[in-house]
Amino acid sequence: MRHIREVLRLHHSVGMSQRAVVRRRRPEWAQRSNKSGSGKPARAKEPTCSGLPAGKTLHSFDFEAVPMVSKAQVSALAAGDGWLGKGANLLLFGPPGGGKSHLAAALGLALIENGWRVFFTRTTDLVQKLQVARRELNLEAAINRLDRFNLVILDDLAYVSKDQAETSVLFELISARYERRSMLITANQPFGEWNRVFPDPAMTLAAIDRLVHHATIIEMNVESYRRRTAIERKRGPGRPPEHATSKTRAD
Ligand code: ADP
Ligand code: MG
Repeated sequence: MRHIREVLRLHHSVGMSQRAVVRRRRPEWAQRSNKSGSGKPARAKEPTCSGLPAGKTLHSFDFEAVPMVSKAQVSALAAGDGWLGKGANLLLFGPPGGGKSHLAAALGLALIENGWRVFFTRTTDLVQKLQVARRELNLEAAINRLDRFNLVILDDLAYVSKDQAETSVLFELISARYERRSMLITANQPFGEWNRVFPDPAMTLAAIDRLVHHATIIEMNVESYRRRTAIERKRGPGRPPEHATSKTRAD
């Protein structure tokens, strides 16, 4: 634990270029986008530069494929008030192809549409940027800069590589946001593999402890959607062609 404290003392500062979307809370945004007839580029298009993968919406998400995820629960999460207001987290676990990234991105988009500020990134990309900031003694400011986002979505946490794990930037981010700002994390493994992601077991435990303290955890243990649709496609005629392609188009 002493090590963790030492690590936390390492906070330093500065900048980070981000694939991000910055949106103000709803009233101001809604007013501006309603005035898009002013000749300015439509501000409503801003979410397309957010780093959110294209085409992953709640509308295109097939809830029947994931019986453990209810549409009502996701709608409540998409409103944001129940969790983002108090810095609670959402953790999505499940095997590859089960729709974690899709659901995370779709929720991110819906939250943006509801006026929240959301930053979506692959975990490894952000860890890389934070490591650079740390080397430049700018880590604290880089982490503080993420404070402007009500939600940081870290896609594929367990893919952080071993050399990336040797620094503790992810732990520092989690600690800094704890009980203040929300995180949505997707991972193939629920905690089991997380020792690879943090420098030592004590830090892994401390990170998990903070993340789950106020969290909704959804385990999406379903067969790969990609594989399922590929098999269905192979079954061939008799199946409406638009159904065969629409779900995998954006792979
Ligand atoms: P994961 O992140 O769990 O590995 P993805 O979200 O990347 O899975 O899903 C793999 C592909 O299958 C993506 O193209 C995604 O849009 C699609 N997909 C997965 N689950 C669903 C679903 N329930 N409804 C619609 N498309 C889905
Ligand atoms: Mg994924």
